[in-house]
Amino acid sequence: MARYTKEDILRRVQDEDIQFIRMQFTDIFGQLKNVAITASQIQRAVNNEIMMDGSSIEGFVRIEESDQYLWPDLDTFAVLPWRPQYGKVARLICDVHNPDGSPFAGDPRNVLKQALEAVNALGYTFNAGPELEFFLFQTDESGRPTTQTGDEAGYFDLGPLDHGESTRREICLALEEMGYEIEASHHEVAAGQHEIDFKYTDALHAADNIMTFKLAVKTLAQKNGLHATFMPKPVCGTAGSGMHINMSLFQDGRNVFYDKTAPRQLSPLAYHFIAGLLAHVQGFCALSNPLVNSYKRLVPGYEAPCYLAWSSSNRSALVRIPDPRGQGTRVELRSPDPSCNPYLVFAACLAAGLDGIKQKRVPPPETTENIYAMDAKQRAERGIQNLPGSLGEAIHALLADPTITGVLGEHLTRQYTAGKLREWEEYRTQVSQWELDRYLVTY
Ligand code: GLU
Ligand code: MG
Repeated sequence: MARYTKEDILRRVQDEDIQFIRMQFTDIFGQLKNVAITASQIQRAVNNEIMMDGSSIEGFVRIEESDQYLWPDLDTFAVLPWRPQYGKVARLICDVHNPDGSPFAGDPRNVLKQALEAVNALGYTFNAGPELEFFLFQTDESGRPTTQTGDEAGYFDLGPLDHGESTRREICLALEEMGYEIEASHHEVAAGQHEIDFKYTDALHAADNIMTFKLAVKTLAQKNGLHATFMPKPVCGTAGSGMHINMSLFQDGRNVFYDKTAPRQLSPLAYHFIAGLLAHVQGFCALSNPLVNSYKRLVPGYEAPCYLAWSSSNRSALVRIPDPRGQGTRVELRSPDPSCNPYLVFAACLAAGLDGIKQKRVPPPETTENIYAMDAKQRAERGIQNLPGSLGEAIHALLADPTITGVLGEHLTRQYTAGKLREWEEYRTQVSQWELDRYLVTY
């Protein structure tokens, strides 16, 4: 439902002394991009007339067809509270369109919109609530990021141990000013690690919220002399950062994962959805865990999943059902990490869940024991499979899963896997510091 009309935007720009508007979109690898326009151009912006050169954006288009247009989603209009309050800056999140007006197939936001149209056609709304973890690191004398934290705190600790506390507070306040409802904010397990959770919403705006969230965290950390990173495993031997996604389907305002009379009060639809996620989680791992570094997080012992199992409580499982029921009933997927492109990951999760519903897939029995404590034989007896062990494996799993390549479309699948394969090849042929330390003298 549209909240803002073109006239509302024009009026706000004028009345609130907004001088710049950042027209933002996300590239296929999850990087936020923007073109800043001055207030004098706002009329052109709301009429979808702002152009950009797509050939300069990684994975977008070839040189010979490079002109693309930014179509702003007017509902995403928000003032950036960390910019000067005199001559303010606002953002508009945009869809990328071809010169003939058709949506550009390589725009991740369009991919998610199309996936949502498929679910809306069945009468459902897909909601997502992400939980992003991140690290705040100190910078050195020249302002470059380090991996030092100067913070010895742990899970749920608070001040004076927790040096990131005031930064976290500023982030929460800025986001609330932008209309976010912050549900929780706390120190995480590792030194220098934090988490801020905001309220779920429809998946499209949840993905938009994630992109703005990351920008806010990075900007406000920098203002406090810190460096924020969403890299999944910046420090070895301690917890990595996840982006757990809580998902639910609503129909006519009612949560259809909830069924008061069913086992665990979960509807058959919820079970099909879980089974769909488990059937395709290997296929979309290259999206949900897109970096070489992502696979350093997916190892036993750090509350990050590595095996395909679900549980109504157990945190070692890949899919967990958090306690709340009724309207709060949801499925939590624990594999994604915050370096992912949220538009593509939500589209993939939805396609996976819908496939489960369409095929009436049934999940394996719930795993109630700690899977980390099982050996390979015990896992094999229970038929528990692994997530891909590397980016290379994940790319192959993606290409072998037509449900996932189908939702991405041909253009985006090709561009994405080509970019990721280059990244993987580059890594495989690199000699790392670890290898040098380990072998240079001993051999
Ligand atoms: N940091 C853990 C991960 O990598 C999750 C910790 C938690 O359960 O919040 O997924
Ligand atoms: Mg957490």
